Amino acid sequence: MKPIVIVGGGVAGITLASLLSSAGKKVLVLEKEPALGGLSRTFRYDGFTFDIGPHRFYSTNEKVLGIINEALGVDTSSIQRNSAVYFLGRYHDWPLKIKSVRQLPLNISFLAFIDLFTKNFRKYSDSPSFENYILTKYGRTLYLTYFKEYSEKFLGISPANTHWHWAKMGVERATISDKITTGNLSSLFKLMLMPSPKQLDFIYSPSGCDAFCLKLAEKIRNNGGTILTNSAPDSIVCEGDRIAGITWPGGETEVDKLVWTGSLRDLEGLLGLSGHGLDYIDLVVYNVELSEPLERQFQWCYYGAKEIIFSRVSNPLNFAQGLTPQGKGSLCVEVTCRKGDPVWNEPEKLIDRVINDMVKTDTVKSKNHVEKVHVERVADAYPVYDLNYQEKFERLNSDLKLKNLQLAGRTGLYWYNNMDHSIENALDIYNNFMKEGL
Ligand SMILES: Cc1cc2nc3c(=O)[nH]c(=O)nc-3n(C[C@H](O)[C@H](O)[C@H](O)COP(=O)(O)OP(=O)(O)OC[C@H]3O[C@@H](n4cnc5c(N)ncnc54)[C@H](O)[C@@H]3O)c2cc1C
Repeated sequence: MKPIVIVGGGVAGITLASLLSSAGKKVLVLEKEPALGGLSRTFRYDGFTFDIGPHRFYSTNEKVLGIINEALGVDTSSIQRNSAVYFLGRYHDWPLKIKSVRQLPLNISFLAFIDLFTKNFRKYSDSPSFENYILTKYGRTLYLTYFKEYSEKFLGISPANTHWHWAKMGVERATISDKITTGNLSSLFKLMLMPSPKQLDFIYSPSGCDAFCLKLAEKIRNNGGTILTNSAPDSIVCEGDRIAGITWPGGETEVDKLVWTGSLRDLEGLLGLSGHGLDYIDLVVYNVELSEPLERQFQWCYYGAKEIIFSRVSNPLNFAQGLTPQGKGSLCVEVTCRKGDPVWNEPEKLIDRVINDMVKTDTVKSKNHVEKVHVERVADAYPVYDLNYQEKFERLNSDLKLKNLQLAGRTGLYWYNNMDHSIENALDIYNNFMKEGL
């Protein structure tokens, strides 16, 4: 039996391999990194555990929840979201509460209030841009004081050249309940007025987010499947309109189907296709060990101001106690970048700047609390949703005329998604394969 080869050992690839191997299919997973988990992998050093930024499971889909709960078993906890935003030099709860609004400069809260009542009568432009979307939904005041600077810093492109789908996934996903969202100024305002808004519980694995992939990997191996890390394909052999085989350093196999969840730029290279202009935002995370726990209660906090080098920090202790040794603290600090730029090439050079900004924003009280900083590069963390991203992706799809090739997951589908979406995508692919009579 030729194997179904799955490139990428992240949530999508591992979920699919687990479903297929449980159905008795022969699977081979090829992962280029030394560890499984992809963007939801976990770094561990001397008793400190760090996910990549904040990573928690949330879904309303029963089948997806079934897969998450079955994989994690008893290794789960339910946690209430507690996030914050650092805005105009102060910390505010996110979503905003009345007390935060009182702390804003009077001209800003006044202008935002005016926006609330006039926004439905304004039309900014017909552009499908992030800028136009945010102006229409949140008004000019919040756009200019927060969203513009944050997204320029995070994406490295102007909000006028960013597709509104970026906002749809990134901002609106901050759901508080099924009925109330933070998706526009009116819903933000409604939330502010609620004395105790319903909180959203999410699922977390106290041993780190990679538990999901690690536990499913165990199942795949028990089912007879093969998972190879440090193994990126180095050639794909095509015969007519099918993929016949694949090789990687030290191995080769014939292929029944190839499911690709990895970087599309790598796939283009292997198939000899010229680039389609699809690009990813990369990430450097600074995993900081602290001599004492942080006083701040947030699980994660966004930093919009350009002069602060990081865009978000998260506090593992507020996800699970066991992620940080007793009496110590920790912080995961995220700096977005692009492969080849100075941040990606020499991230260690920024350690002092990261620590200074942590002190400047009062995230940590003193430099002396920092005991160690581990630097990790995370490639292809976000697809770049510029105004033409859909056309570029469609062009790639029409150039990929291979009948047994399936793109999947966040990175393989150029999809700004969450883990539950990748699990659902794997489930759909599995069901289609089974329908085709695999
Ligand atoms: C900072 C951050 C925070 C997030 N927070 C949350 C959250 O709280 N909740 C949530 O649900 N989601 C969150 N997400 C999203 C979540 O991480 C992703 O949706 C999910 O991990 C995607 O899984 P995937 O398998 O589809 O893709 P990936 O994780 O991208 O998996 C692709 C895999 O392919 C491998 N690969 C790439 N190229 C090759 C190649 N050429 N050969 C072999 N292997 C290759 C990669 O190393 C990777 O392991 C967050 C993402 C980020 C970046």
